[in-house]
Amino acid sequence: MGDKVSAKQTMLKAGVPCVPGSEGALPADPAFIKRVAKQIGYPVIIKAAGGGGGRGMRVVHTEAALLNAVQMTKAEAGAAFGNPEVYMEKFLQNPRHIEIQIIADQYKNAVWLGERDCSMQRRHQKVIEEGPAPGIPRRLIDRIGARCVAAVKKFGYRGAGTFEFLYEDGEFYFIEMNTRVQVEHPVTEWITGVDIVRTQIMVAAGEKLPFVQRDIQIKGHAIECRINAEDPYKFTPSPGRVTTWHAPGGPGVRVDSHIYTNYFVPPNYDSMVGKVIVHGDTREQALARMRTALGETVVEGINTNIALHRELMVDAKFMAGGTNIHYLEHWLEQHKR
Ligand code: ADP
Repeated sequence: MGDKVSAKQTMLKAGVPCVPGSEGALPADPAFIKRVAKQIGYPVIIKAAGGGGGRGMRVVHTEAALLNAVQMTKAEAGAAFGNPEVYMEKFLQNPRHIEIQIIADQYKNAVWLGERDCSMQRRHQKVIEEGPAPGIPRRLIDRIGARCVAAVKKFGYRGAGTFEFLYEDGEFYFIEMNTRVQVEHPVTEWITGVDIVRTQIMVAAGEKLPFVQRDIQIKGHAIECRINAEDPYKFTPSPGRVTTWHAPGGPGVRVDSHIYTNYFVPPNYDSMVGKVIVHGDTREQALARMRTALGETVVEGINTNIALHRELMVDAKFMAGGTNIHYLEHWLEQHKR
């Protein structure tokens, strides 16, 4: 399931709908590649089978740009992921990113732990995550959750995992599975009360899942903001010494971070230095708590994207819920400074 091409093939076999695209990895034959793109219809997206973190993807709008894009993605994928295989998908215009958290033991017990909406993205990278997904009918989510559990049981998966979907016009399309604990797992821990990391270690040690599906009740609403060491509007990385670090607190506020006053943020890694996660009885309450929490957070010595998060938490469209995967990029265009 870590390989996106075989993951899609497995999911299709398990009866889970996928984004229309090439059946498998693209061969070298240029005529074939052009034919596949024509069949799918432009725009298409070229994706690396071994890609991750929003890298190894290229959107193509015209046939003229197609072969070059395939070549470049292949070269990048080979260098970055050690696997030059690429595949093609229809590039959906206005989808939301909705994902289903699952956890399974080796005795074919599997449970899904609700969904997360991770549509607030920049360069295909998640910036804000929340759960439950605002405005999607429960019966649709329940149906896709049950499908994920069935798939997991079918292929005998063990551990925590996430099925990622694009959601457009009432339909879910599988894009990939993350076979690990993700950055955004605290959202699910808040709304289900399940300690995902502990449960993952238990099932890895050969124990049985300590709960069944009917034990899982979704309570309230959770939102996570990723705190990155970067300029909040230009996104240039901002490594260096943290001269002051003050974390927010209070009811319904969780902070996951490794930094402290005098910590040196090295320039060599991903820019994320922490996560602020809040929970409320309602989405409105969660939003209010996030505004307060971000207001209390103090990071000095380096730049962070906290200022951006504070603006987004009072943005009318985000507050209404249900923004799509392009919303943040458009917002940034409009609020250029
Ligand atoms: P990664 O493994 O790098 O996270 P994903 O396959 O999960 O890559 O895709 C990351 C993001 O890229 C998605 O959340 C979505 O915003 C965008 N994306 C991926 N595939 C498509 C597609 N077919 N159409 C539109 N957007 C897509």
